Order: sequence, then C-alpha cells, then structure tokens
Amino acid sequence: KTVTDMSVFEALESEVRSYCRSFPTIFDKARGYKLWDTQGREFIDFFAGAGALNYGHNNSRIKSKLIDYLTDDHVVHSLDMATVAKESFLKRFQDVILSPRGMDYKVMFPGPTGANTVESALKLARKVTGRQTVISFTKAFHGMTLGALAVTGNAFKRKGAGVPLHHAVSMPYDQYHENVDSLTLLERYLEDDGSGVDLPAAIILETVQGEGGINVAGSEWLKQVEQICRRWDILLIVDDVQAGCGRTGPFFSFEEAGIQPDMVCLSKSIGGYGLPFAITLIKPELDQWAPGEHNGTFRGHNLAFVAATEALSYWETDELTQDILRKGEKVRLALEEMAAKHPELQTDVRGRGLMQGISFASEGFADRVCQAAFQRGLIMETSGPDSEVAKVMPPLTIDDEGLDKGLSILEESIQAAKQ
Ligand code: PMP
Repeated sequence: KTVTDMSVFEALESEVRSYCRSFPTIFDKARGYKLWDTQGREFIDFFAGAGALNYGHNNSRIKSKLIDYLTDDHVVHSLDMATVAKESFLKRFQDVILSPRGMDYKVMFPGPTGANTVESALKLARKVTGRQTVISFTKAFHGMTLGALAVTGNAFKRKGAGVPLHHAVSMPYDQYHENVDSLTLLERYLEDDGSGVDLPAAIILETVQGEGGINVAGSEWLKQVEQICRRWDILLIVDDVQAGCGRTGPFFSFEEAGIQPDMVCLSKSIGGYGLPFAITLIKPELDQWAPGEHNGTFRGHNLAFVAATEALSYWETDELTQDILRKGEKVRLALEEMAAKHPELQTDVRGRGLMQGISFASEGFADRVCQAAFQRGLIMETSGPDSEVAKVMPPLTIDDEGLDKGLSILEESIQAAKQ
C-alpha cells in the first residue's frame, strides 16, 4: 500500500529527521531534474540530493550499466576485496581525471559518506605529521562524525555532542569580501610560539562553502593558503565533497586556482547515481597507512563503482564543464535580475558554476522563499548560519527548459514570500 501522508514518519522516525520537514511530501519517482510524489505532483529539482545527484536522477546511461551488472550476477558487496568493478573504477579515474590533469594521487576508499572521507584525511594528517591540531574556517561544514564535527564551524551541530573546536582552530573565512585579514590572523597564530598552541597538522577548507552559505574563496586567497601550508609544512586538505565533481564547472573546484592539495575529499556525486560512495585522494608520499589501519565493511560498494565509472564518461571531454559554466552564468544573471527588482530585501548573489545562492537580510525570508517554491513545485534548500541563503543547485545535466522553469518559480516565490 502506498503511503500518502507524513504521519508514519512523524510517528516512527526520529525527531532528528530534517529534509522531510523541509519537503513535506512522499517522493516516489524521479528522472533527470524532475521528481514526482505519490499524488503525482511534479517537482523541479534545484537541490540535487544535497549535491549527490550531479548527473540527475536515474540517469539512463548509468542505470543501464547497473542493470547489466546485476543481471550478470557480478559481485555485490563493499569490502575492499579486489573486484572487476573496482579495477575499472581505479583505471578510469586515473585515465579520465588524474592523468589529463597531471595529478599524482593514491586513491583511498574511506567509507560511504562525506564525513568518512574527511575523517580519513584528518586521521592521516595527524599520523603523518605527528601533530594534532587542524585549522578550519568559520562557517565550514565537514560532516557529523566527531572528528569532522570538530572542524565544522557550526555550534548548533556541535553542541549536542559536546564537541568543541577541540583540536581545531577556526579562522574567519571571509575572502568573499576580499578581506585578507583571515590570512594575517592565520600567520600571526602560526608565528605565536608563546600561545602554547602546537603547530597544526593540516588546514582543511572548502573552496565554496556549501552549507555555510555559498561563500566563495578567491583563487588568490587559495594560493596564499597553499603558500602558508608549504612555508610551515602543514598539509592542505580540500574538502570537495560538495563543490567537486563538476559542481563549480571543472571536475575539481580548485583547478582554477591551480593549487595542489595534499589530500582531496570527494563524496556525494562521485557515486554517480546517488549511491553512497566516497574517496580520499592522497599524495603518494603521504600514503603512510599500515595495511588495515583504517578499514571497515563499506569501503567502496561495487554498485557504486559501476555507477561512478560510467559517470566519469562525462569528463572525457570539456563539454560538460563548458555547459555548467554557461548555465551557471544564466542562473547568476537571473538571480541578479531578481535581486535588482527587490532592493529592499538587501540581497546578495554569489556562487560559482551551478553552485549559486541568493541571500536575504530579513530573518526567515529565505526559508519562506523555499517553502513557497516547494508549494509551486520547486525543490530548493537554504544554507548559511541563519538559513539566510536560498541555494540553486540543480543537476548539472539539467536542460535550459528546466532551468528557466525553475528560475521563474523562484522569482514567483520571492514575490510570494514578501506577502
Ligand atoms: N563536507 C562537505 C563540504 C559537505 O557539504 C558535506 C555534506 N553536506 C560533508 C562534508 C559531509 O558529507 P556526508 O553528509 O555525506 O557525511
């Protein structure tokens, strides 16, 4: 029997549930950039599974590979045994992503989620350097497990677990305002022997803070952070869980800045089909793990390998990147037009590629916009410390018709939220 109301979730699921509160309906089917609920209502997806569905829902190319794999009874498990699916992924990732960019990384399978890749990077950084502190930035989001939480700049998420920024120092991430103060502060901190705070093992950052409110780090700032890391022998970890896999245009979000992180965290869309999957890229000389030192049951699921391998076909040429940049520009212009129509809302439009946002000064306004959008058939999420940003993150493969339709619903929703 099809469930058609939310009472089952309210009665049986933990109070911690969140997205089913923001989008209170029961979803049943999805294809590309569209979803349908059990009552047949259609929704345009400007959320993309929080960035996990860059290639759209039920992408037909990827789906057919999964069906073939299952039909032929290939191995389905996720222990880190050698399988045909894993071999194909490793080779394809090398050939399509790493080699053409002249990148040299070992690939680690740290577990199924974004938090797992972050944990593995933090642990390895501490092991390799023999140091404990990790520097992260204000408004950063790195995941909900205790280590990842300790470098997440969001007290609401940390408080319940009693996790202070214990082994982390939180630095202002305000390059968006072209303010270099954060770097001056960082240098001062590193130089201060008298503080009694040890030299950090690593600096972890997002090039565009997704959950933190679409805060974009400039290329120059990223280069300077890299230089600081090199000068002090600190490892640079880029958390590309949300901004990676093409979200900002190129496959890696840091390509434009030309920096070379020591470790890169990927999850969400690396699985291609919304399947749980994560990888940690490690510079070969830092791959100092002892065999089995960081293992577990779900270390790269074979179905996710199949999906991820096929998804990499999108990166064999430059076509998708160019299309993302073109569509990103279109979103940007549309948001700026909306902003210009409503000067009293004190908006700010920002983002890169198809990771765009519009912030509203008045408290609760962005939430009202997203609720109005949902009622009109558009799925959008808020982000930022005060949920002040409405985020535009459609699947990268969305067509112009879907983009235009979603943007016009957003425009109506801003108008509606004013009433
Ligand atoms: N890092 C970043 C930048 C993220 O955006 C997220 C998820 N929003 C995570 C880490 C954590 O990923 P997960 O929820 O899969 O654990």
